[in-house]
Amino acid sequence: MNLRIPGPTPCPPEVLAASARQMINHRGREFADLIRRVVQRLKRFYRTEHDVLVLTASGTGGLEAAIVNTLSPGDQVLAVSIGEFGQRFAEIAEAYGAQVIRLEYEPGQAADPEDVRRALAQHPQARAVLVTHNETSTGVTNPLADIARVVREADRLLLVDAVSSLSSIPVETDAWGLDVVVSGSQKGWMVPPGLAFVSMSPRAWQAYERARMPRVYLDLGRHRRFLERGQTPWTPAVSVLFALDVALEMMEREGLENIFARHARIGQMARQGVKALGLKLLAADERYASNTVTAVRVPEGVDARALLRLLEDEHGVVLAGGQGELQGKVFRIGHLGWVTEEDIRQTLDALAQALPRVGYELPARA
Ligand code: PLP
Repeated sequence: MNLRIPGPTPCPPEVLAASARQMINHRGREFADLIRRVVQRLKRFYRTEHDVLVLTASGTGGLEAAIVNTLSPGDQVLAVSIGEFGQRFAEIAEAYGAQVIRLEYEPGQAADPEDVRRALAQHPQARAVLVTHNETSTGVTNPLADIARVVREADRLLLVDAVSSLSSIPVETDAWGLDVVVSGSQKGWMVPPGLAFVSMSPRAWQAYERARMPRVYLDLGRHRRFLERGQTPWTPAVSVLFALDVALEMMEREGLENIFARHARIGQMARQGVKALGLKLLAADERYASNTVTAVRVPEGVDARALLRLLEDEHGVVLAGGQGELQGKVFRIGHLGWVTEEDIRQTLDALAQALPRVGYELPARA
């Protein structure tokens, strides 16, 4: 199977083999070495000197940790949303009693840093900004460095969902001044689902001291205290940590810059390929099209479900459908983590063969 969804992503055999290892004592020395090594490596990928905590949770658990460790009920926050995951971040803040001001964009658009600047000027009480770096539902990457500059100038906290970007496209946690940055193991990290990573800047820890939202399982202060001893407060997903350890080693061998270059090359190849089939990207401005996931508009008259079923059953290519309001309107090709040009070539070939069978006429030169 060519699993081309934007997570969970395929795992290299070495990573899967590591996850099949026998259990160890999670309060013992071997585990302490493992978690310390993993955290040191994660910090290099995060490009941070500060804390990175490893939670046994999916990415959403990491987003919830970002909120409850920095905010109090009644706090105003600006939620920048360009799709489903932007909405999710806002909903979590709302569920814990934050007063959420939304800055929303049409699907396919990226956020404009100048809009963020204006919104913060209009809302001087807003303590934090929530932003999705790479919106997996629309295949759009926000200009995070520019948004971060605006947020720093306004001196607010910046909480970033980097679940489908960090590890695959550049994120400079310290240099850009990002306060809390969340990622998840099943995306570009080439690891099964089960772990979320959360970085905390010194400013985020100051906010933690004042934050009054309820937190137990996701209390990052507890995680930090336990990490000093080489432990996690609760029983961790040991098998996923074994897998992560191996994946991080592979990623270090490839090198961060090479990983970014591979994703940029493959992203470009996916976009050019679908356009050559006469299809249209959802991303309104290709400068912001994502190098980890491509969202493609379903052509008029084509049943997206029939297309995805045909691709899977007859070509062994698994693509993702649209989420929320985009259901039936887009399909998505994941190209993050363990992915090569050959995987994308196969995907494009399969599309070229399947599309005419669901009522779409290929352009003459495709
Ligand atoms: N944020 C983004 C941008 C994502 O792509 C995802 C996963 O698809 C999530 C958050 C949520 O992660 P999870 O499904 O691991 O909870």
